[in-house]
Amino acid sequence: MNKAEREHNDKVARLGCSLCRHLGYGETPPHLHHIRRGGKRSLAPVIPLCPEHHTGNTGIHGLGRKAFEKIYLVTEEELLEETMRLLNENL
Ligand SMILES: [Zn+2]
Ligand SMILES: [Zn+2]
Repeated sequence: MNKAEREHNDKVARLGCSLCRHLGYGETPPHLHHIRRGGKRSLAPVIPLCPEHHTGNTGIHGLGRKAFEKIYLVTEEELLEETMRLLNENL
């Protein structure tokens, strides 16, 4: 990971969990979740997800992406769009 990527990831992490934000829970310190589109992991875009919404029982890895999107009525890609929008506002 180069310096620019590290700085980008730091900014993403400072936004707090994107699902907690979406659900109105406020800012929760997150992990970074890579959105896999079939390419290299290092090129995958990242979204912030708190430990529970990332790898917990109610998280994207615990539920699987399909169930996660059905339960929360929001897709990974929508959370990414929201993350990118917030980053651009915070420049
Ligand atoms: Zn969360
Ligand atoms: Zn993940």
